[in-house]
Amino acid sequence: MHTVSRDFSFCYGHRLLNHEGKCAHLHGHNAKVRVELSADVLDDDGMVLDFGELKRAVGEWLESELDHRTFLAENDPLVLPLCDAGEPLVLFPQNPTAENLAEFIFTKIASFGFPVAKVSFWETEKCFASYFERNYFE
Ligand SMILES: [Zn+2]
Repeated sequence: MHTVSRDFSFCYGHRLLNHEGKCAHLHGHNAKVRVELSADVLDDDGMVLDFGELKRAVGEWLESELDHRTFLAENDPLVLPLCDAGEPLVLFPQNPTAENLAEFIFTKIASFGFPVAKVSFWETEKCFASYFERNYFE
């Protein structure tokens, strides 16, 4: 099994509904995302995937769709007023936690056709969540 990984970073705002910690209030994070791809067999160039291709596709998507946006749960009462104020929002069926964001990014990258094995999402320098398929450790 071969793996390659690339890190990305972007800024976002969010808040968590029904949360008793600081994340209950609107605030921002500098996120780091590590995308890990895997392959049993390398391609003819000896690669899992060209790093440049990963950077281009994922980097452009993060930049255009997630960077400097506010992530909210669909049922957050702030959705309407922030929308009316012209704020760029990204809405999620659940709270925009690091865990849910890791899964969301994993699913998106898989939809690009990349052999994604794992996505880790750092909400802060010291705290991160990972999402991977069940057979990751097999
Ligand atoms: Zn937070």
